[in-house]
Amino acid sequence: MTPKEARSRTRWFQKVFLLQDWRISLFIREDPPDWVSPTTKAMAECVADAAYKRAKIWVSNSRCRAYNESVEESLFHEFAHVVCADVGILGECQPQKELVWNSIGETCEKAYRYDKKLRRKKK
Ligand SMILES: [Zn+2]
Repeated sequence: MTPKEARSRTRWFQKVFLLQDWRISLFIREDPPDWVSPTTKAMAECVADAAYKRAKIWVSNSRCRAYNESVEESLFHEFAHVVCADVGILGECQPQKELVWNSIGETCEKAYRYDKKLRRKKK
C-alpha cells in the first residue's frame, strides 16, 4: 500500500467514524518508526491520545506480507484503536480487544471497497 492509498482510507475512515477532529499521522514504511520499540515483531502499531485527539499509525507492507495478512485490514485494525480511544472503551486490560479490532478491520476493508465501487458507478 502506498502512502497515498493509506491517506485515502484514512479520510474515509475518519468520515465514517466521525473522527475528523483527530490528527492521524501515517507511517507507511518497512521498519518501525522511533515511537515503536525497535525490537517489535509487530507488522503495525498505533498510539492514540484521546486528550489531544492525535494518533500515529505505522504499517509495514513487507511484514504484513510475511505474516500473510492484508495491509489494508491491518491499517483498518489500527484505526479501530483510534475509535476505541476516542470513546474510551476496550482499554489494555480487555484481552478480547484485539479480536474486536480484527473484526472492525475486516468489516471496514469490505465497506471501503463497496463504497468505492458505488461511487465509481455513479460517475
Ligand atoms: Zn491491535
